[in-house]
Amino acid sequence: MRSLEDNVNRIMGEIKDICLKKGRDYKKVTLIAVTKTLDIPRIKEAIDFGIKNIGENKVQELMDKYDDIKDIYDIHMIGHLQSNKVKYIIDKVKLIHSVDSLSLMKEINKRAKRAGVKANVLIQVNVADEASKFGIKLDEVKNFFDNATQYNNVVIKGLMTIAPHVEDPEDARPVFKALKLLYDELGEKNYENVRMQHLSMGMTNDYLVALEEGSNMLRIGTGIFGQRVYNK
Ligand SMILES: *Cc1c(COP(=O)(O)O)cnc(C)c1O
Repeated sequence: MRSLEDNVNRIMGEIKDICLKKGRDYKKVTLIAVTKTLDIPRIKEAIDFGIKNIGENKVQELMDKYDDIKDIYDIHMIGHLQSNKVKYIIDKVKLIHSVDSLSLMKEINKRAKRAGVKANVLIQVNVADEASKFGIKLDEVKNFFDNATQYNNVVIKGLMTIAPHVEDPEDARPVFKALKLLYDELGEKNYENVRMQHLSMGMTNDYLVALEEGSNMLRIGTGIFGQRVYNK
Protein backbone atom coordinates (compact mmCIF):
# COMPACT_ATOMS: atom_id res chain seq x y z
CA MET A 1 0.00 0.00 0.00
CA ARG A 2 1.28 3.42 -0.83
CA SER A 3 1.65 5.99 1.91
CA LEU A 4 -0.35 9.14 2.29
CA GLU A 5 2.77 11.13 1.54
CA ASP A 6 3.46 9.21 -1.68
CA ASN A 7 -0.12 9.62 -2.81
CA VAL A 8 -0.27 13.37 -2.20
CA ASN A 9 3.12 13.91 -3.83
CA ARG A 10 2.16 11.85 -6.84
CA ILE A 11 -1.12 13.71 -7.33
CA MET A 12 0.51 17.12 -6.83
CA GLY A 13 3.09 16.10 -9.44
CA GLU A 14 0.40 15.05 -11.87
CA ILE A 15 -1.38 18.36 -11.37
CA LYS A 16 1.83 20.24 -12.17
CA ASP A 17 2.56 18.11 -15.23
CA ILE A 18 -0.87 18.46 -16.76
CA CYS A 19 -1.03 22.20 -16.05
CA LEU A 20 2.38 22.66 -17.62
CA LYS A 21 1.24 20.77 -20.69
CA LYS A 22 -1.93 22.86 -20.94
CA GLY A 23 -0.23 26.17 -20.20
CA ARG A 24 -2.12 26.64 -16.97
CA ASP A 25 -0.97 27.79 -13.54
CA TYR A 26 -0.93 24.73 -11.28
CA LYS A 27 -1.30 26.94 -8.21
CA LYS A 28 -4.82 27.70 -9.35
CA VAL A 29 -5.84 24.07 -8.96
CA THR A 30 -7.22 23.20 -5.53
CA LEU A 31 -6.78 19.66 -4.28
CA ILE A 32 -9.54 18.77 -1.85
CA ALA A 33 -8.82 15.69 0.23
CA VAL A 34 -12.11 13.90 0.81
CA THR A 35 -12.14 12.77 4.44
CA LYS A 36 -15.57 11.17 4.82
CA THR A 37 -15.48 8.08 7.11
CA LEU A 38 -11.95 8.92 8.30
CA ASP A 39 -11.13 9.60 11.93
CA ILE A 40 -9.49 12.76 13.21
CA PRO A 41 -5.91 11.44 13.62
CA ARG A 42 -5.94 10.19 10.04
CA ILE A 43 -7.37 13.45 8.76
CA LYS A 44 -4.73 15.43 10.64
CA GLU A 45 -1.93 13.47 9.00
CA ALA A 46 -2.65 15.08 5.64
CA ILE A 47 -1.65 18.53 6.87
CA ASP A 48 2.01 17.45 6.92
CA PHE A 49 1.92 16.91 3.18
CA GLY A 50 0.47 20.22 2.14
CA ILE A 51 -3.25 19.49 2.14
CA LYS A 52 -5.20 22.62 3.10
CA ASN A 53 -8.71 21.75 1.96
CA ILE A 54 -10.87 18.82 2.99
CA GLY A 55 -14.28 17.65 1.82
CA GLU A 56 -17.06 16.01 3.82
CA ASN A 57 -20.34 14.79 2.37
CA LYS A 58 -22.59 14.51 5.42
CA VAL A 59 -23.73 17.31 7.71
CA GLN A 60 -23.68 15.23 10.90
CA GLU A 61 -20.20 13.89 10.27
CA LEU A 62 -18.93 17.34 9.41
CA MET A 63 -20.38 18.70 12.67
CA ASP A 64 -18.84 15.89 14.71
CA LYS A 65 -15.40 16.60 13.31
CA TYR A 66 -15.64 20.36 13.09
CA ASP A 67 -13.98 21.44 16.35
CA ASP A 68 -10.97 19.24 15.73
CA ILE A 69 -10.30 20.39 12.19
CA LYS A 70 -11.61 23.91 11.88
CA ASP A 71 -8.30 25.58 12.64
CA ILE A 72 -6.20 23.48 10.29
CA TYR A 73 -8.31 23.03 7.16
CA ASP A 74 -10.79 24.83 4.98
CA ILE A 75 -13.86 22.62 4.95
CA HIS A 76 -15.92 21.91 1.83
CA MET A 77 -19.43 20.47 1.88
CA ILE A 78 -19.45 18.21 -1.15
CA GLY A 79 -22.45 15.98 -0.52
CA HIS A 80 -26.17 16.41 -1.02
CA LEU A 81 -27.51 19.05 1.37
CA GLN A 82 -31.03 19.08 2.76
CA SER A 83 -32.53 22.51 3.35
CA ASN A 84 -33.29 21.81 6.99
CA LYS A 85 -29.59 21.20 7.70
CA VAL A 86 -28.20 24.36 6.12
CA LYS A 87 -28.31 26.18 9.45
CA TYR A 88 -25.79 23.82 11.01
CA ILE A 89 -23.03 24.39 8.51
CA ILE A 90 -23.62 27.85 7.10
CA ASP A 91 -20.83 29.47 9.14
CA LYS A 92 -18.52 26.46 9.07
CA VAL A 93 -17.76 25.72 5.46
CA LYS A 94 -15.72 27.57 2.91
CA LEU A 95 -17.74 26.33 -0.04
CA ILE A 96 -20.92 24.33 -0.60
CA HIS A 97 -20.43 22.29 -3.78
CA SER A 98 -23.89 20.80 -4.02
CA VAL A 99 -26.60 23.38 -4.62
CA ASP A 100 -29.18 21.60 -6.74
CA SER A 101 -32.47 23.44 -6.23
CA LEU A 102 -33.88 26.93 -5.91
CA SER A 103 -35.38 26.10 -2.54
CA LEU A 104 -31.93 25.15 -1.23
CA MET A 105 -30.53 28.36 -2.69
CA LYS A 106 -33.21 30.33 -0.91
CA GLU A 107 -32.57 28.62 2.42
CA ILE A 108 -28.81 29.18 2.15
CA ASN A 109 -29.48 32.85 1.47
CA LYS A 110 -31.75 33.13 4.49
CA ARG A 111 -29.30 31.44 6.83
CA ALA A 112 -26.32 33.35 5.48
CA LYS A 113 -28.12 36.62 6.01
CA ARG A 114 -29.02 35.64 9.54
CA ALA A 115 -25.43 34.61 10.28
CA GLY A 116 -24.11 37.81 8.74
CA VAL A 117 -22.05 36.01 6.12
CA LYS A 118 -21.93 35.59 2.37
CA ALA A 119 -22.21 31.95 1.46
CA ASN A 120 -20.04 30.64 -1.38
CA VAL A 121 -21.65 27.91 -3.43
CA LEU A 122 -21.26 25.84 -6.56
CA ILE A 123 -24.17 24.64 -8.63
CA GLN A 124 -24.17 20.86 -8.99
CA VAL A 125 -24.90 19.74 -12.53
CA ASN A 126 -26.10 16.27 -13.45
CA VAL A 127 -24.39 16.33 -16.81
CA ALA A 128 -25.19 12.77 -17.86
CA ASP A 129 -28.75 13.06 -16.53
CA GLU A 130 -28.42 10.01 -14.29
CA ALA A 131 -31.47 9.14 -12.21
CA SER A 132 -29.21 8.14 -9.31
CA LYS A 133 -27.52 11.53 -9.07
CA PHE A 134 -28.47 14.93 -7.75
CA GLY A 135 -27.94 18.10 -9.73
CA ILE A 136 -29.50 20.41 -12.26
CA LYS A 137 -29.77 18.96 -15.74
CA LEU A 138 -27.28 20.41 -18.17
CA ASP A 139 -29.89 22.03 -20.39
CA GLU A 140 -31.66 23.59 -17.41
CA VAL A 141 -28.65 25.31 -15.85
CA LYS A 142 -29.02 28.61 -17.71
CA ASN A 143 -32.62 28.87 -16.70
CA PHE A 144 -31.58 28.02 -13.15
CA PHE A 145 -29.06 30.86 -13.16
CA ASP A 146 -31.73 33.30 -14.30
CA ASN A 147 -33.61 32.55 -11.10
CA ALA A 148 -30.82 31.71 -8.68
CA THR A 149 -28.78 34.87 -8.95
CA GLN A 150 -31.24 37.10 -7.10
CA TYR A 151 -29.98 36.09 -3.64
CA ASN A 152 -27.61 38.72 -2.30
CA ASN A 153 -26.13 36.66 0.51
CA VAL A 154 -25.06 33.86 -1.78
CA VAL A 155 -22.23 34.06 -4.28
CA ILE A 156 -22.24 31.42 -7.00
CA LYS A 157 -18.59 30.60 -7.54
CA GLY A 158 -18.86 27.94 -10.18
CA LEU A 159 -20.08 24.49 -11.10
CA MET A 160 -19.62 20.98 -9.78
CA THR A 161 -20.33 17.56 -11.18
CA ILE A 162 -19.94 13.92 -10.28
CA ALA A 163 -19.26 12.05 -13.50
CA PRO A 164 -20.85 8.66 -14.14
CA HIS A 165 -18.78 5.82 -12.76
CA VAL A 166 -17.09 4.23 -15.75
CA GLU A 167 -14.45 1.57 -16.09
CA ASP A 168 -12.33 3.68 -18.43
CA PRO A 169 -12.09 7.33 -17.31
CA GLU A 170 -11.78 8.33 -20.96
CA ASP A 171 -15.50 7.62 -21.19
CA ALA A 172 -16.14 10.46 -18.75
CA ARG A 173 -14.29 12.99 -20.89
CA PRO A 174 -17.37 14.23 -22.79
CA VAL A 175 -19.04 14.99 -19.45
CA PHE A 176 -16.14 17.14 -18.30
CA LYS A 177 -15.88 18.83 -21.68
CA ALA A 178 -19.56 19.72 -21.64
CA LEU A 179 -19.38 21.20 -18.16
CA LYS A 180 -16.29 23.26 -18.97
CA LEU A 181 -18.05 24.68 -22.00
CA LEU A 182 -21.04 25.69 -19.91
CA TYR A 183 -18.77 27.09 -17.18
CA ASP A 184 -17.03 29.34 -19.70
CA GLU A 185 -20.32 30.43 -21.25
CA LEU A 186 -21.85 31.37 -17.91
CA GLY A 187 -18.67 33.14 -16.90
CA GLU A 188 -18.98 35.49 -19.84
CA LYS A 189 -22.41 36.67 -18.80
CA ASN A 190 -22.80 39.43 -16.31
CA TYR A 191 -24.97 37.77 -13.72
CA GLU A 192 -25.32 39.42 -10.37
CA ASN A 193 -23.93 37.44 -7.43
CA VAL A 194 -21.94 35.17 -9.72
CA ARG A 195 -18.15 34.96 -9.88
CA MET A 196 -17.16 31.92 -11.85
CA GLN A 197 -13.87 30.74 -10.33
CA HIS A 198 -14.24 27.08 -9.47
CA LEU A 199 -14.92 24.10 -11.68
CA SER A 200 -15.18 21.20 -9.24
CA MET A 201 -14.84 17.94 -11.11
CA GLY A 202 -12.65 14.89 -10.89
CA MET A 203 -12.45 12.12 -8.27
CA THR A 204 -10.03 9.24 -7.74
CA ASN A 205 -11.17 7.37 -10.80
CA ASP A 206 -11.24 10.25 -13.26
CA TYR A 207 -9.29 13.28 -11.97
CA LEU A 208 -6.60 13.17 -14.63
CA VAL A 209 -9.16 13.42 -17.41
CA ALA A 210 -11.14 16.07 -15.50
CA LEU A 211 -7.99 18.13 -15.03
CA GLU A 212 -7.12 17.88 -18.71
CA GLU A 213 -10.58 19.17 -19.51
CA GLY A 214 -10.22 22.24 -17.32
CA SER A 215 -11.13 21.29 -13.77
CA ASN A 216 -9.55 23.50 -11.12
CA MET A 217 -10.94 21.71 -8.06
CA LEU A 218 -10.30 18.01 -7.57
CA ARG A 219 -12.14 16.04 -4.87
CA ILE A 220 -10.04 12.98 -4.10
CA GLY A 221 -10.57 10.51 -1.27
CA THR A 222 -9.46 6.98 -2.04
CA GLY A 223 -6.53 8.13 -4.17
CA ILE A 224 -5.09 9.97 -1.17
CA PHE A 225 -6.11 7.95 1.89
CA GLY A 226 -6.69 4.49 0.41
CA GLN A 227 -9.89 2.45 0.40
CA ARG A 228 -12.60 3.72 2.75
CA VAL A 229 -14.04 1.47 5.43
CA TYR A 230 -17.75 2.08 5.94
CA ASN A 231 -19.98 1.14 8.90
CA LYS A 232 -17.31 1.01 11.55
C1 LIG B 1 -16.64 10.51 -1.82
C2 LIG B 1 -16.69 11.66 -2.75
C3 LIG B 1 -15.58 12.03 -3.53
C4 LIG B 1 -14.26 11.28 -3.50
O1 LIG B 1 -14.40 9.99 -3.99
P1 LIG B 1 -13.09 9.07 -4.29
O2 LIG B 1 -13.54 8.17 -5.37
O3 LIG B 1 -12.79 8.37 -3.02
O4 LIG B 1 -12.00 9.97 -4.71
C5 LIG B 1 -15.71 13.13 -4.36
N1 LIG B 1 -16.85 13.83 -4.44
C6 LIG B 1 -17.93 13.52 -3.71
C7 LIG B 1 -19.16 14.34 -3.85
C8 LIG B 1 -17.90 12.42 -2.85
O5 LIG B 1 -18.98 12.11 -2.13
